[in-house]
Amino acid sequence: MAGCRTCELTRRRDAGCAPQWDLVLRTPSWDVAHAYGTSVEGWSVLVLRRHAASLAEMTDEEAGELGPLLKSVSRALAEVVGCAKTYAAQFAEDPLHRHVHFHVIPRAPDQPEDRRGPGVFAGLGVPEERCVPEARMNEIAAAMASKLSGPARDKGAEQWGTLCVRSWHSEPSELHVLFLQSGSCR
Ligand SMILES: [Zn+2]
Repeated sequence: MAGCRTCELTRRRDAGCAPQWDLVLRTPSWDVAHAYGTSVEGWSVLVLRRHAASLAEMTDEEAGELGPLLKSVSRALAEVVGCAKTYAAQFAEDPLHRHVHFHVIPRAPDQPEDRRGPGVFAGLGVPEERCVPEARMNEIAAAMASKLSGPARDKGAEQWGTLCVRSWHSEPSELHVLFLQSGSCR
């Protein structure tokens, strides 16, 4: 959709030009990326791959992938950044991002009280010098990708894992190109 920055970022992934941190995983309906402009390592975003402004517009397939993906990303974050739990929030209110996307935010075991719950959003939209460095974002994204793209590791992930593997097998060359080019053509 014209004027939607979220759609622009999705097109960049489609074109194989996304940096590594912006392309953790693609499922048939969702993209997983590390958030930018954040001081929180591992702050992830699940982005609906087509433009929709409201959760009420989700198809059954999009909604069906969401639950398992929230769980899988949360488990991967626990392993990669050692969080005690994750938060999930969906607003789509930023004028440039009125497009369904879920923030999945790691909450550290020692997170200060004022950064718990909604207070965690103080860690988004921060000045560049406080942001997670791009190299670290890429490192986290790579670790997340390896946790998420392997075979389903637990029973609960099987349904989602099967769905994604089937999709990847249907377009292996495209996926290969996406990963080969990520980070190399910004
Ligand atoms: Zn959009």
